Amino acid sequence: MRILLIEDNRELADWLSRLLRKSRYVVDAVYDGADADAALATQLYDLIILDIGLPNMTGLELLRRFRQRRGLTPVIILTANDAVSSRVAGLDAGADDYLVKPFDPQELEARIRAQLRRKQDSRVPHPAFGPLVLETESHQFKLESTPLDLTAREYSVLEALLLASGRVVSKAALTETVFGLNDDATDNAIEIYVHRVRKKLGDGPIAIGTLRGLGYALRKTAG
Ligand code: CA
Repeated sequence: MRILLIEDNRELADWLSRLLRKSRYVVDAVYDGADADAALATQLYDLIILDIGLPNMTGLELLRRFRQRRGLTPVIILTANDAVSSRVAGLDAGADDYLVKPFDPQELEARIRAQLRRKQDSRVPHPAFGPLVLETESHQFKLESTPLDLTAREYSVLEALLLASGRVVSKAALTETVFGLNDDATDNAIEIYVHRVRKKLGDGPIAIGTLRGLGYALRKTAG
C-alpha cells in the first residue's frame, strides 16, 4: 500500500515515515503544498495523510483541487487546531477522516487501516486467497498458518496480488505500488521481487502466475 504523507514539520514527517515503513507501507513524504500538488497529479496512492498548515498551498486548497480533479483516494487530515470549525472545513473540502495533533501513532494506524478497508469495499480484517492470509493489524502474511518472512517490498508485491484476489495485476501497476517516488525503479526491478516472493511461497498451495505481456496473478496450485 502506497501512502503520500504531506507534512511540513520535517521531524514529524520523518518520524511518521519511519513508523509507517515499519508497518510495511510504501511512503512518499513531501514537505510543501506545491510539491504535494505535483505528486498527486502524477502518482497514484492508496491513501493520503495531509497536514493543513503548509507552505505554498494550504492543505485545504490542495484537497479541494485534488477532489476537483476527481481524485478519489482516501484522505486523513492532520490538524493542530481542534476547533470544530477547522475539522468541519477539512471534511467539507473532501477529507475522509481527521486527527488532531498531538495524536497517538496507534490511533493513526488504526484509522489508516479503516480507510484502506473502506477503499477495498470490504470490512474483512484478514483478506485471504485460499490458505494465504494477510493479518492486517500485524502486517503479517500467513500461509497455511505459518508466518511468511518477507521484506517490505516483497510484502508490497504479495499484498497487491492478494488484494486483486486472483485477478491480473499489470507489471506497471505492481511497480507503482511497490516503489516510492524517489526509488530508482528500473524496468525489471519488479521481476526480481516477484521472483523472491515466489521462492518464499515455495512449492506450496499458492503460486504467482505470469501472464506474458499482461502481468501477474495469484493462483492455487493443483497439488
Ligand atoms: Ca504544518
